[in-house]
Amino acid sequence: MLLKKLSLSALGLITLFGCTRNAISGRSQLMLTSESSLQTQALTEYKDFLSKNKVVTAAVDKKDYDVVQKVGKRIAAAITKYYAQKGLSNELSGYKWEFNLVQSKDVNAWCMPGGKVVVYTGLLPVAQNEAGLAIVMGHEIAHAVLHHGQERVSQQQAAAIGGNIVGSVLSKGSNKIASNVFNTVYAPTAQMGVILPNSRKQESEADHYGLIFAAMAGYNPQEAITFWQRMEKMGGADNTPTLLRSHPTNATRIADIKRLMPEAERYYKAR
Ligand SMILES: [Zn+2]
Repeated sequence: MLLKKLSLSALGLITLFGCTRNAISGRSQLMLTSESSLQTQALTEYKDFLSKNKVVTAAVDKKDYDVVQKVGKRIAAAITKYYAQKGLSNELSGYKWEFNLVQSKDVNAWCMPGGKVVVYTGLLPVAQNEAGLAIVMGHEIAHAVLHHGQERVSQQQAAAIGGNIVGSVLSKGSNKIASNVFNTVYAPTAQMGVILPNSRKQESEADHYGLIFAAMAGYNPQEAITFWQRMEKMGGADNTPTLLRSHPTNATRIADIKRLMPEAERYYKAR
């Protein structure tokens, strides 16, 4: 009981002092781990993932390789411009963009903190075209630059601290917890088979800024509506794609994307 009381007060302190207002979204986020330490961890996981999977090179499939590079670079350039215009380039500190296509039937893509992006070949038929791919990559990259990974790792850390391991936190420090929760949040790379869905707030932010980034990169934001409709139809079966498990989609989400369309189209026309 004493331990539980201690845990709850520890959690209260964490919530009180661990929050930071996001420079782009303005939303208060729990940040117990630093972006730079997360980027370091992400780089290790990313290299490990690439070493264990079949990376599609230009020699293997020039057309698909080229499209992932082209879309990725255009979105990265749009994000760099967007943050520079707001005087927030320091938010992208440590970002060294890399884009990879990996051979896998899974419908999935992700971007790690620091700008390491992976697209699975299984996503390409669902994306259907360059603009469809830009919608997914814009969304995934938005999660990273909006520090959603940092926030999710922090939430898991808080949950761990609020649990029954206060003693171990005090004795061992939080680094051990940080590495364990990293693997929980980035389950697709850790292949733990557990996918923690993004929160609705994170999903709607990634939709919002992902649309803007794709539009600034020169892709029609309207593609987002048909893309997420296609994804929604793929749900429900046993083999629900990973992307759909981590990014739950329904009619409300698609209606929200339609509401975001006028703003995204302004960016599309102004480019
Ligand atoms: Zn998402």
